[in-house]
Amino acid sequence: MFELIDRDGLGRIGKFTVGNHKVTTPTIAIVVNPNRQVVPPELMKKMGVELIITNSYIIHKNQDTRKIYSKDGLHKTLKWDGPIYTDSGTFQMYSRQIKDLPNKKIIQFQKKIKSDIITPVDVFTLPQDDKPVARKKLNETIKRIKEVSQLTKGNFTAPIQGGRHLDLRKLACKKLSKINPLVFPIGGIVPYMEQYRYSKLAEIILTCKLNLPFSTPIHAFGAGHPMVFAFLAYLGCDIFDSAMYSLAAQRGAYLTVNGTIDSSKLVEFPCTCPACSCSTVKEFKSSSMFQKEKFLTLHNLYVTIAEIKTVRQAIRLNRLGELVQIRARAHPKLGEAVLNILKKHGADIIPFEKMSKSSALFYSGAETSYRPEVIDAKIRSKLIGKKFEHPFWGKVPLGLRSSYPFSQSVTPGGTKFPFCKPTIQLKTILDYQFGKGASKNFKNLQLEVSKKTGRIRRVRQCGTLLGTVRPSDGLFIPSFAGAKLLGKYIKTIKVKDKEVAGFIRIGKSLFARFAFPSKNIRPNEEVLITFKNKPLALGTACLSSHEMIQFKRGMAVKVRRRS
Ligand SMILES: [Zn+2]
Repeated sequence: MFELIDRDGLGRIGKFTVGNHKVTTPTIAIVVNPNRQVVPPELMKKMGVELIITNSYIIHKNQDTRKIYSKDGLHKTLKWDGPIYTDSGTFQMYSRQIKDLPNKKIIQFQKKIKSDIITPVDVFTLPQDDKPVARKKLNETIKRIKEVSQLTKGNFTAPIQGGRHLDLRKLACKKLSKINPLVFPIGGIVPYMEQYRYSKLAEIILTCKLNLPFSTPIHAFGAGHPMVFAFLAYLGCDIFDSAMYSLAAQRGAYLTVNGTIDSSKLVEFPCTCPACSCSTVKEFKSSSMFQKEKFLTLHNLYVTIAEIKTVRQAIRLNRLGELVQIRARAHPKLGEAVLNILKKHGADIIPFEKMSKSSALFYSGAETSYRPEVIDAKIRSKLIGKKFEHPFWGKVPLGLRSSYPFSQSVTPGGTKFPFCKPTIQLKTILDYQFGKGASKNFKNLQLEVSKKTGRIRRVRQCGTLLGTVRPSDGLFIPSFAGAKLLGKYIKTIKVKDKEVAGFIRIGKSLFARFAFPSKNIRPNEEVLITFKNKPLALGTACLSSHEMIQFKRGMAVKVRRRS
């Protein structure tokens, strides 16, 4: 079960339920080596880790570990009372050239050791695999996923394969969308990260994201380096997994969000994590090989976890776009990928973007022009009102001088917009927010304007309040009378259940499973809830129409006014 709590771009804060455990996403499943633990799982918990992942194939292949884990189970052996995700050995088949593993046997073994999230042995598709080969591997993977769905009680994953072939990835998403797994891992992406092919990686992830149900978390299998978390979270990945912290430590690598540093070149630690704060480079360099590895493992883990928290906080602040652009400076190939993906697919993200955000839009580099918020604002304002030329925004309607994102942004050229009469401002806002023509019934208005700011506060017609203009984003918040004048321009959500209608009437929020939305509703859009074709309440959508249909849990509309 997955519930959406907050969002930015395609990134989201989610509540992911695994058995009796709840995990906040985006999260990182920390890879635990079943044979060798440099950092004990108890310490990981203190560091903020909520989910760990280990490899059932590695446990199974060794007679001793097989015996211990079979007898005591994963949780007792690893001393971890949180959720444990198990991998099947697919990646080892790729990295160590191991011959095919028996799917059924590996699944049964994961059940035996009490894994919370069971992975089938999917067939790793290589970047160089041509379409017929990739298709064959995909068909076999789908067969194996069907097997795991029959052998488990819903706590399985459905890895999406298809290699570099986006049509095959799409086909995999379509075929597996109804199978209802706990997680959709995006498989076969490690080679793209190893080769810095971030543009291709991003295209694969975005293709999968837009073709899979939004109500199931997506796992970027094998990602890895903290440098890429913000970008992949922005594209909708909810789970990452990292063995990188440990593998890097073994080869003497010191991870940072801006890339990797060879620890032998360190003169001082550019970090204040507990490991770096309690040691000096001199002490580190004079320590034993094992101590060095332990130190680096700890530091790498702290950096990895801190970045996941940074990403989550950026989503909550609606600043993920800016964080992605900042991280894009870490590697030219990452920067290229961010620019490419926004140029090519920025518009595809618009349906899932908030209509207005709690933070101002900051110009953070050339990519800003292609961010979905910017493209959206330009599209919606193109055919309305008298314009003036702005250095960043181009032709902006004068009437949007106080509205999101034009006024709530820090861009080259500033935010000093020319004066515009309040009546024109209101009409422009209505047409921009609800669609061209929405203002046609708004006549003979009395506008209450702030003497201090010159902004519209309340809108009345013959003494009846039609709505207010929200000071924070300059958008119109209609009353029932205002919604009536908007007519077909305000999007509606039907409630069909009488009992639910009763709850809405007393001011409770509308939950996704009871919502029947009209098309193209966006998060943070002002909507009208109806029951038997009569207005029931007004509120702000938390989900897009697409998501309201898919989600079984969580709020669809935060109710503001009721009839
Ligand atoms: Zn550190």
